[in-house]
Amino acid sequence: MENRFKSLTLFEFQEKFPDDDSCKLYLANLKWSNGFSCSKCGHTNYCAGNGSYDRQCTSCNYIESPTAGTLFHQVKFSLLKAFYIIYYVSTSKNGISSTELSRKLGLRQKTCWLFKRKVMSAMKSSQNFPMEGKVDVDETYVGGQDDEALGRNEGKKKIVVVAIERKGKGVSRMYAKVIKTASKQNLKEFMIQHIDNEAEVRTDKWGGYRGLESEFPKLKQEKSEKKGKNFSQLHRSIMMFKAWLRGTHHSVKHLQAYVDEYTYRYNRHKMKEGIFENLINRLVKAAPLPYKFIIA
Ligand SMILES: [Zn+2]
Repeated sequence: MENRFKSLTLFEFQEKFPDDDSCKLYLANLKWSNGFSCSKCGHTNYCAGNGSYDRQCTSCNYIESPTAGTLFHQVKFSLLKAFYIIYYVSTSKNGISSTELSRKLGLRQKTCWLFKRKVMSAMKSSQNFPMEGKVDVDETYVGGQDDEALGRNEGKKKIVVVAIERKGKGVSRMYAKVIKTASKQNLKEFMIQHIDNEAEVRTDKWGGYRGLESEFPKLKQEKSEKKGKNFSQLHRSIMMFKAWLRGTHHSVKHLQAYVDEYTYRYNRHKMKEGIFENLINRLVKAAPLPYKFIIA
């Protein structure tokens, strides 16, 4: 498709998207990449609607814009700025804070945060590509007193279960989930969502993993050595994630969304070229997310 945008450079981004119109065209091509189908009646013939790139159903006359029914729905600032937010979030190595976005784009910080939060919701794992081979799992605590940067007033710590797929001495992928307790049920649910049942899963001796051999026949529980030496890749990954989290925000309220943002970028560190296109496609395919649901 000619529509594709695969570059990482800001220069090429600016060339491809000089104004709102070019963004609208890009969205229209993505949204109707498999042809037009009226979202009211399913009819597949259309003519041009009033606005640029709107399409009007020739059967029921319903007019649909490229942003309707997507995460761009009712965005109150220019589409071009929304594209910039997606560009920075997807292509910056460590992501970008809403404060920084606000400075770069001349929008209010809160406005940037709310839209970025929508973008983050599109970064959630599809759960279609479970981890295979050697997989390590452990839980970690985020927030609370031993993590002062996250804000004491947030109070309670949260438990995050983390899994990595090991490749040689490195890590090829990582998934994580905020859980209420480290119970067998919660751990199992996460593992089924993200780990292939043939994987060689390693955990520590925690009782919550006991008996999970029924789902993961190759699961082994290993006593964690001093300073977690035998789980070094996993612990390093957790440390890096926590360091990122401390530098990025000050609330554990939306912790799962931050986990999703981090792992989305992490799992694409070797195929960065298509990351902007992938993310924008996800925003087009996702249902609108009204702000009241974000704040609730
Ligand atoms: Zn129709």
